[in-house]
Amino acid sequence: MCHLTVATHRWRLVFKMLTEVDKLRYSWQLDVPGFGEREQLTLKNSTALVTRVGGIGGPVAQSLAAAGIGKLILAHAGKLREDDLNRQILMSRDQIGESRVKCAAGTLKRFNSDTQIEVFDENVNNVNIDRISSEADIIFGCAPLFEERFLLNEAAVKGNKPLIDCAMYSMEGQVIPIVPGTTPCLKCIYPDDPEHWQRKFPVFGAVSSLVAQIGVIEGIKILCQFDDPSLGEMIRFDASLMNVKKIRLLPRRENCPACN
Ligand SMILES: [Zn+2]
Repeated sequence: MCHLTVATHRWRLVFKMLTEVDKLRYSWQLDVPGFGEREQLTLKNSTALVTRVGGIGGPVAQSLAAAGIGKLILAHAGKLREDDLNRQILMSRDQIGESRVKCAAGTLKRFNSDTQIEVFDENVNNVNIDRISSEADIIFGCAPLFEERFLLNEAAVKGNKPLIDCAMYSMEGQVIPIVPGTTPCLKCIYPDDPEHWQRKFPVFGAVSSLVAQIGVIEGIKILCQFDDPSLGEMIRFDASLMNVKKIRLLPRRENCPACN
């Protein structure tokens, strides 16, 4: 069992109780050993920031809504294009040219109307990061570029809130659950900005979705303090060989500019 204390959880002024509909809707997951009404209540009273809502962030947002997260904050700039549709499952072809994040919000709203959704039709940058992240209890970093991932890392450390860093390339994917003060942060792991990181890279939607689902499972474990999140570890898979492994990370860097 995880004995983490997630000090970041921000109980709302209006605390929402589970309704009879909630108990019915989530009854199949309430049967998961270790996950009960207390954990469901935590999800219902939690806010998750998901940036962005593409091949990884889309399935992240959908699985969080399915699990009963109280509020989703979605950040993603730009309009839907034909070549987004192999992986951006919250959007459809008749929406090409429309705002991606608004398309995603519409799909999620129809899927679970009890999940509150706030959208930012912009990518995270050093001007808007505080405004977009301040309300979140947990951050799911699903952005392709390190510049944005490092900004999310800084926001997580500054706000003392967990970050689930999700990334992929071609048939490989990785998830790093980060809890400030407990695990190394993203900057501890990547002290130098990685080179040769490109904006466009090979993606199968099924592979990005696999990264997303691993990220959501780890995020729910941390948020609800249930089961054993992979703290201090990187979860890595190679879908070509169907290998999944966990890599133990080095301890936090004493000279880390982000978390020390
Ligand atoms: Zn650090």
